[in-house]
Amino acid sequence: MADLTSLAYYIETFGCQMNENDSERIAGVLDAAGARRAASVEESGLVVVNTCAVRGKSEEKLYSYLGRLRTLKRKRGLIIAVAGCVAQLHRDGLIDGRPFVDIVVGPDNYQRLPEALAPSLAQGRVFARVLTSRSRNWDEEARRPVLRENRVSAYVTIMEGCDNFCAYCVVPFTRGREKFRPLRAVLEEVEALAQAGYREIQFLGQNVNIYRDPATGTRFPDLLERAAAVPGPEWIRFITSHPRTFDPETVRAMARSPKVCRQLHLPLQAGSTAVLGRMKRGYTRDEYFEKIHLLRAAMPDIHLSTDIIVGFPGETEEEFRETLSALSEIRFSNIFSFRYSPRPRTAAAKLPDDVPLDVKRRRLIEVQALQKTIQVELHGTFVGRTIRVLGTGRSRKDEAVYSGRSEGYQVVNFRAPDDAVGRFVRVRITGYGPYSLRGDALAFEAPRLVAPPRPAALG
Ligand code: SF4
Repeated sequence: MADLTSLAYYIETFGCQMNENDSERIAGVLDAAGARRAASVEESGLVVVNTCAVRGKSEEKLYSYLGRLRTLKRKRGLIIAVAGCVAQLHRDGLIDGRPFVDIVVGPDNYQRLPEALAPSLAQGRVFARVLTSRSRNWDEEARRPVLRENRVSAYVTIMEGCDNFCAYCVVPFTRGREKFRPLRAVLEEVEALAQAGYREIQFLGQNVNIYRDPATGTRFPDLLERAAAVPGPEWIRFITSHPRTFDPETVRAMARSPKVCRQLHLPLQAGSTAVLGRMKRGYTRDEYFEKIHLLRAAMPDIHLSTDIIVGFPGETEEEFRETLSALSEIRFSNIFSFRYSPRPRTAAAKLPDDVPLDVKRRRLIEVQALQKTIQVELHGTFVGRTIRVLGTGRSRKDEAVYSGRSEGYQVVNFRAPDDAVGRFVRVRITGYGPYSLRGDALAFEAPRLVAPPRPAALG
């Protein structure tokens, strides 16, 4: 392999937590090969753009970013690599349409980046490469470090891909079919993170609750319990769960362990059973509500969040009203809401996209306005209470102001007399807005994170 020590790289990440974790893996691979991380595009010789294909809008954002890189490339030499879901979706098509892109690398191929860069670096000219084969090698990955910038909370991927083929979703075509990471590798990573001083672990996967260890068949509730038994990290979260397969055993495992946060993201998508059927989600409105009742019966203080799509093909006004009524009844702590846009290769792309754009826009505004009212009401109930917050960062404007997350995943901005990053803090809530809480630190619970951990090879 050519020497990459002369290369500075910059990674731009679009999309979800899994993409953020993938960027940490890409950084680990490049770092292990000798390249060094640049603080900005301007200081780099390689830009890796880690992309999201989930919505048309995210792809548009990518193309406008690539346009800016193209201008930069004209001014000076720059290797441009497109990684992630758009890379996997369009493969050679990306280079055909944009010849200034040098490398296209899908999610299963990040280990091969140094090998793809080597000929270009050795010969001083760029050779286009498309790396989109489908065979994730968890063992090979385990030998490479994950280069995390976050020193407090760590993402740990436990599975990838999806076999559900919801009508609107491109993920099965970008991330492929379900693949489960060996439990041994997951637990070794959790132990390494515990030793490095991480306070929170967030398990990732498109559908975590169907996890099973390929070797032993151990399932997700047991994984949660085994991870909770590792001393060190005090909070464990996971994302994403699917309402169809989210089971009572997982609810019981959550309720049993004080380390598993009282917080869950459970994507509803639509409040109408008819729309859910057209979306091929595999559950009805009533079945979704039953899961919520089960969760709240076991953990009355649980905070729930969800995803909502408005304007799916054929969505009538009456069906849309069912989404509003679901939001009013369930009262989520947070939602992620979007206008439907057709994605290539999906079943819904063959349906007429018949809800007019102005109707989709108006429905999205209605959803967001209702949710804002709910969040203001929920946040109001926090005032005067003292809650546990994990400090994750500090304000750039005011050194004494920190930000963090509550167990329910609310953003909390608070004043503290000492460094609160990486520490659990008792915060008295004094104010709020629709998207965050404000307060003052009363007491620190754990010693501050002393030495920022250097990433170590896992496995
Ligand atoms: S469950 Fe549905 S929405 Fe989620 S990743 Fe799979 S296909 Fe996409």
